[in-house]
Amino acid sequence: MPRLEGLIPPQTGVAIRARAGETLRLIDPEGSQVCDLFCFTDDPERVPLSAGRSADYNDTILFTRGNRLFSFEGDPLLEITHDTCGRHDFLVTPCSQQMFRMMNGREEHHPSCLENLERAFAPFGVDRYRIGTTFNAFMNVQIAADGRLQVLPPLSKAGDHVDFLLKRDLLIGLTACSDPGSNGGRCKPIRYAVL
Ligand SMILES: [Zn+2]
Repeated sequence: MPRLEGLIPPQTGVAIRARAGETLRLIDPEGSQVCDLFCFTDDPERVPLSAGRSADYNDTILFTRGNRLFSFEGDPLLEITHDTCGRHDFLVTPCSQQMFRMMNGREEHHPSCLENLERAFAPFGVDRYRIGTTFNAFMNVQIAADGRLQVLPPLSKAGDHVDFLLKRDLLIGLTACSDPGSNGGRCKPIRYAVL
């Protein structure tokens, strides 16, 4: 039985605490749905996750089983131990009100991963300026030879999941991504469990 589990409704987010040695499982229950992950060490320093160090220390920008995600200080925070999808993104920042304004040319409020992470982390004293590039589980960003990026529907099928072994006690923010364009046209839920 998982110690902790939950469903993240479409276009929302949560923050959870988990301990070194536990495994975080992210599940795409319906398929083709992105889950943004950002985390901090669960200590007074709150050292954040670093996409740049993770790319550098893994010599890749495509992360899957066997890769470790590193902190700003260069310490391993998470190790991917199981991955039934195989395609994730660690290049782009969480979707934001600003991004939707640029894409749609409209000012009205749009739910976003940045807003949902900000709200989830706020009770822990973490503000939006500490939320960097997220690990975007199941996000399908294709990279052309000239470096151009294209966001395509996720390759995940219903029930696909990715497991992360915690190397440190962590404060983890998770979302069910709010951008229909990154999720095959429809925003769906994400399920998580701590094992
Ligand atoms: Zn998003």
